[in-house]
Amino acid sequence: MTGREVDVAIIGGGQAGLATAYYLRRAGIDFVILDGEAAPGGAWRHGWDSLRLFSPAAYSSLPGWPMPPGGDDYPSRGAVIDYLTRYEQRYALPVERPVQVQAVIYDGDRLRIETDKGPWRARGVVMATGTWRHPHVPHYPGQELFEGQQLHSAHYSGPDRFAGQRLLVVGGGNSGAQLQAELSLVADATWVTERPPVFLPDDVDGRVLFQRATARIKAFQEGRAPDAPPGGLGDIVMVAPVKAARDRGNLGSVRPFARFTRTGVLWTDGTETDIDTIIWCTGFRPALDPVAGLDLIEPDGTVALDSTRCRRNPKLWFVGYGTWTGPGSATLIGVGRSARDTASEIAAVLTGFPT
Ligand code: FAD
Repeated sequence: MTGREVDVAIIGGGQAGLATAYYLRRAGIDFVILDGEAAPGGAWRHGWDSLRLFSPAAYSSLPGWPMPPGGDDYPSRGAVIDYLTRYEQRYALPVERPVQVQAVIYDGDRLRIETDKGPWRARGVVMATGTWRHPHVPHYPGQELFEGQQLHSAHYSGPDRFAGQRLLVVGGGNSGAQLQAELSLVADATWVTERPPVFLPDDVDGRVLFQRATARIKAFQEGRAPDAPPGGLGDIVMVAPVKAARDRGNLGSVRPFARFTRTGVLWTDGTETDIDTIIWCTGFRPALDPVAGLDLIEPDGTVALDSTRCRRNPKLWFVGYGTWTGPGSATLIGVGRSARDTASEIAAVLTGFPT
């Protein structure tokens, strides 16, 4: 058998993979991180130029080392990439990259991880592949007729190339609000949201989303209904550019169109609008391709878990995908909790002792 043997293989070297690695290291577990990017940072390497965190540095830290407070209230995308890069170095985490994991398959009492750089075998696998690779675009009637451009926010880098265009920005979360704010400065941008957007009060920011997630976890642990409002990453944090767009009257939104036409869209009132580009800020789905052959993925794209451990294959754990892997787990500060619990359970399984 060629390839390398390891106790645990973490697939994905973004924030979720690094947080899990931090705790596995503390538990003395032998592990490797297999990451598809050419450099550290995970999905943060692909965000748009002006993208900022919606929480201050102190509320965006991975376990063990607080994010250094930069000059800005909300760290830039570059500051996050720099932090994740230095985090890897600080803990000398064993990352193999770029490595594309093609499949995870059963191999006797192990799991075999097939990659473009050869196979690995592991006693346990942590999926930390995030969602960026699976942008979600909803279907609208006539979409195949439309001759204009379509772009998902995953591939948006900045406003310049859209100057003077007629745009639709579709999606009512943080991405939609931030792109509407930015694009309405250079183009005729219309914001389309399924329902009126939910804005957080001006004086709170992303940390309240973390506090809500914490309150929900506490309620579940105490066996009572959560009293914190459900709000998740979908509630819009009023970062400065979004506030400015509201103050200049560019943050109104309309309800979805009925269907596409060749040159634009037909609204439900029967009027038509010609559109040059549609920018889909319609979220993502878990990037679980490596385990697609293990018959684990539910119709909604998630996996049945007990905490983060796969119910149907106890050698697999899932970290960082958002609510179904733990409230707040798709955030820098929120992923630490599930990473800690995951590493503790793995240690207990592999060594008989929880950390
Ligand atoms: P990722 O960062 O996507 O990392 C996954 C890694 O796995 C990548 O390196 C990828 O290459 C690798 N990978 C995937 N598949 C394979 C494979 N088959 N083989 C090998 N490697 C693979 N969170 C916050 O905390 N604060 C914020 O302010 C915030 N703002 C956001 C704004 C936007 C616009 C978006 C989209 C998200 C935001 N988030 C924020 C959420 C956060 O950025 C993401 O959820 C985060 O990137 C998830 O980290 P991750 O490690 O789970 O996944």
